[in-house]
Amino acid sequence: MAPSSTCPELLSQLGDLLGPRHVVTERDEIAPRLIDWRRKYTGNALALVKPGTTAEVAAVVRACADCRTPIVPQGGHTSLVGGSTPDLDGRAVILSTERLTRVRDVDPVNNTMTVEAGCILQSLQEEAARHDRLFPLSLAAEGTCRIGGNLATNAGGLNVLRYGNARDQVLGLEVVLPDGQVWDGLRTLRKDNTGYDLKQLFVGSEGTLGIITAATLKLQPQPLEAATAFCAVRDVDAALDLLARCQQATAQSLTSFELIPRIGIDLSLKHVAGSVDPLEGAYDWYVLVEAQGGHGDGGLKAALEGALMQAYEDGLVLDAAPAESAAQAQTFWHLREAVVEAQRHEGGSIKHDIAVPVSSVPAFLTEATAKVHEMVPGIRPVPFGHLGDGNLHFNLTQPEGADTQAFLARWDEVNAAVHDIVARYRGSISAEHGIGQMKVAENARFKPPVELEMMRAIKRSLDPGNIMNPGKVIDLD
Ligand code: FAD
Repeated sequence: MAPSSTCPELLSQLGDLLGPRHVVTERDEIAPRLIDWRRKYTGNALALVKPGTTAEVAAVVRACADCRTPIVPQGGHTSLVGGSTPDLDGRAVILSTERLTRVRDVDPVNNTMTVEAGCILQSLQEEAARHDRLFPLSLAAEGTCRIGGNLATNAGGLNVLRYGNARDQVLGLEVVLPDGQVWDGLRTLRKDNTGYDLKQLFVGSEGTLGIITAATLKLQPQPLEAATAFCAVRDVDAALDLLARCQQATAQSLTSFELIPRIGIDLSLKHVAGSVDPLEGAYDWYVLVEAQGGHGDGGLKAALEGALMQAYEDGLVLDAAPAESAAQAQTFWHLREAVVEAQRHEGGSIKHDIAVPVSSVPAFLTEATAKVHEMVPGIRPVPFGHLGDGNLHFNLTQPEGADTQAFLARWDEVNAAVHDIVARYRGSISAEHGIGQMKVAENARFKPPVELEMMRAIKRSLDPGNIMNPGKVIDLD
């Protein structure tokens, strides 16, 4: 049944503002927007609205604010923490950015582009390339996620080692505030010390402080060459030694340094078409290394291979396959991406998106692996991810033949035990996916009370009516 608003006239008012076809109330069309990517959360909503300009976003927000109607901003709806899914009471309006897709300006001399929030990430990479520039933010959801969502979650992804998170890519923002005011903060400057860096408040705020409608993003030079290798390493300590050596050898040009355990390779070969193991033997741990930059003369590849050869002689690397072509590098990446998909075919997975200091990764892995084995005999840890950033997806596949529902029922308990270990290393319980609705309570367990109170103070000051994505990120009580 369609839920009703506290303001009976709200829907017709929104129809007048946007045109009726941009205010969707048909349940069939709204249904996919009410369930999250992982199908863990379902919600309900009054309507899905699709404003096409910043002014329309502002008008929608003002109308909703007048009615105290909650707004859930939605970009590509790929949140892995239920951030873009409304709650069940059905009072919220989902505000989709899908019609805000204009590239407003590209300035190759200033190395910036100003784009609207609904632009698909991949289309922005392509836009940058058309101007012989690189927009380095890259993640597996890039064909679906939208830049406003990337910024609102401070997305990480595959190139953080070299270029940083989403927050490092942004010079300016345009934001519609919870009272409907438009803040034009679309600065294109690399230096601007004129007070608080307000744009960074909105980056990572997951739609709880306002709606990002446009952003000015930094562009980088297109790298002249890339060097990629797939290596078996002695253990995770050896992988970290290799990381330092590769950084040195490539003059800090490493873009990715991804850890994959043997079980990740085995599951990918078993379940995901196109997966190929580039090496012959079976080893416990692998890393996918990529560097970008150089002078276009093959020097980067030579430098990386030199570091790998020395590491092989020193017993850190047990075998390695340098990519001989872009196509071969693609097959390495396919295998890395296949790890996520492969786990789905093995039943339930309890997931973590943690970060610890890079130097603490081996000790964390030993401790956390022992703990989860003790809690769930037969559990199959598949820890993989961005080792170079200290960010691992410590994912745990159910024991073979186990009851999936019974296993998943232990999600919170296992998360809590793993997060306790993360906290001992002064790590993060959400390295790149955000808090959404999934981790509100867990986050509150670890953040110092004074930090939580600062967050609440900011939220109350900007959004006193608590209409912006309520229930996400921070509990106000
Ligand atoms: P949505 O899911 O629509 O929204 C995410 C949050 O941002 C919600 O709280 C929403 O309310 C808010 N929001 C959306 N748009 C706006 C806006 N314009 N203004 C204000 N708030 C807004 N994340 C990583 O960091 N690294 C990865 O490597 C990575 N890989 C992924 C791979 C897959 C296959 C998937 C499904 C997800 C992955 N993610 C990853 C999760 C990641 O958060 C998203 O893919 C992406 O950053 C979210 O963009 P989106 O447009 O889908 O946002």
